[in-house]
Amino acid sequence: MKLLKDRIRKDGKIKEGNVLKVDSFLNHQMDVNLFHEIGKEFKRRFEGEEINKILTIEASGIGIACVVAEVFNVPVVFAKKTQTKNIAGDVYTTKVESFTHSRVYDIIVAKEFLGKDDKVLIIDDFLANGKALEGLAQLIEDSGATLIGAGIVIEKGFQIGGDLIRSRGIHLESLAIVDSMDEKTGEILFRD
Ligand code: 5GP
Repeated sequence: MKLLKDRIRKDGKIKEGNVLKVDSFLNHQMDVNLFHEIGKEFKRRFEGEEINKILTIEASGIGIACVVAEVFNVPVVFAKKTQTKNIAGDVYTTKVESFTHSRVYDIIVAKEFLGKDDKVLIIDDFLANGKALEGLAQLIEDSGATLIGAGIVIEKGFQIGGDLIRSRGIHLESLAIVDSMDEKTGEILFRD
């Protein structure tokens, strides 16, 4: 998606540890007009698929997923992150290792919001090692819902997540795939 790649080139900042900061339009301040274009692009890429729910993970996925959900005209559910040891009853839960915070946390979705009639599109901001996506896919499987696919705004193609998810046969659409980024020069190369 050219509009997105141009924006990443213009405003993205490369931090140590292979972290791409896009706080000025995606992760802190949010460009809702861009989100709308992102929503339309996902709609185009998943055309013909029956989708009746969007699932994301807090916090940074929520804003994007809301705008995408509006374009798809379906509800959006976000998995909550929790450190609570005793997770109360009626939830699906699994563990996720965080790439940006390097620790493990539990994610939960209430059973009343995910079930066998749901045909789910996962939406998230970044794909790095694939842990967040795998966790969300696990919750969908546990609930008996159907995973239709996953829409990612920025995939870091030099990390394993994309290969992992595609090798599981999941329909993955990433709007910008970063093949390399150089902290010193600031150069970002995208896959075509
Ligand atoms: P994964 O679970 O695929 O390793 O990492 C995905 C999650 O980590 C995303 O939900 C995102 O919040 C965060 N993340 C991973 N890499 C980056 C990055 O380079 N920049 C930012 N801003 N977030 C990232």
